[in-house]
Amino acid sequence: MTSAECEVQNTDSALFPALQNIRERIAAACQRAGRDVTEVKLVAVSKTVSAEIVREAVAAGVTVLGENRVQEAEGKMTQLADLRSQVEWHLIGHLQSNKARKAASLFDVVQSVDSEDLAVRLNRVADELGKRLPVFIEVNLAGETSKAGAPTKESFALIAQVSKLPALELRGLMTVPPYLDDPEDVRPFFRQLRLLRDEAVQNGIADRSFTQLSMGMSHDFEVAIEEGATLVRIGTALFGARTYTL
Ligand SMILES: *Cc1c(COP(=O)(O)O)cnc(C)c1O
Repeated sequence: MTSAECEVQNTDSALFPALQNIRERIAAACQRAGRDVTEVKLVAVSKTVSAEIVREAVAAGVTVLGENRVQEAEGKMTQLADLRSQVEWHLIGHLQSNKARKAASLFDVVQSVDSEDLAVRLNRVADELGKRLPVFIEVNLAGETSKAGAPTKESFALIAQVSKLPALELRGLMTVPPYLDDPEDVRPFFRQLRLLRDEAVQNGIADRSFTQLSMGMSHDFEVAIEEGATLVRIGTALFGARTYTL
């Protein structure tokens, strides 16, 4: 039996009907794209969601949690310490350099590396902690000033720099594209991120472990999967509308 089959069998979807719905939509998008459903991982974005609800989601089968803020995540991790071996925690929000040490010690993956300065700091603290930290480079494809992420034109240089840092394991690229009413209009951004990854590998800037694409949110994840997403980050469609924003 494959691990994917185990995961489905262990899922108590009645506890969390939205999860079942999202899994079905992920599977349908994979089928349209001719992709294997095991290639796409769901990151349940639990920012602003209470530890109690997160616990229910984990009981229902969620295995990866995404948080935007180090401090908020730290509180939830403490409350959910007994689940530590069952879940991966990913930092998906902007990380300030002065919180790099705490982030490297708490999180399993940092998806939001967007500058060489931050990468160098994370590398130093990961080395001091004796761990190799998996990271993604976040790219700001549309150059939106309101958003984090490295400018597209600097992304190859950053990929090359991060690849050389021994305590970081560069897994791929992450993006938060513009919000557009019609998800089809977001497709060119998802495609662009895929092409950036492919080009970096073809040009030998990154090695073959640089494979992942973290892209697609509640509103547009199906299009992102059609364009090659390997991680989709879903909050609202899973937990409902957030009552406050970050
Ligand atoms: C909040 C957030 C998400 C999830 O957004 P939803 O629209 O609620 O699914 C995904 N990625 C990042 C970086 C976020 O900040």
